[in-house]
Amino acid sequence: MTEPKGPAQTHLLKLETRSRVEFKDITSLLEKLIQQSGVASGTCVVFAPHTTAAILINENDDPHLQSDFANFLEQLAPRDQNYLHSDGNCDAHLKAAVIGASKTLMIEGGKLLLGRWQGIFFCEFDGPRRRELRVKVIPD
Ligand code: ZN
Repeated sequence: MTEPKGPAQTHLLKLETRSRVEFKDITSLLEKLIQQSGVASGTCVVFAPHTTAAILINENDDPHLQSDFANFLEQLAPRDQNYLHSDGNCDAHLKAAVIGASKTLMIEGGKLLLGRWQGIFFCEFDGPRRRELRVKVIPD
């Protein structure tokens, strides 16, 4: 028996970040959205329409790991280095590019398919700012 198929839904969520670099756990926000969508099986695309923010999937159990991520990315792209892009946020562009602006997730049994320790983060690299998050929920 096949389930009724609805059209894909696109959601616009507004977020506010509070520091220059921040890893905001959006897992429960997304889970709620999937639940409300009524989609039992499908695909979820999470997209940050920004050049200095990104979407990360990783462990959300130990908050220390967020500091380790921030330190690791700071080593890759130090804030005070001389860059050709000289508006003062080149490090944020580079950090966002390393993590990526979007992630694709699977929906199974009406829930996001995530590993036991996985969570989803909105990564801010040039905050604090008002940000947007685009989420597309596509039924199979
Ligand atoms: Zn810039």
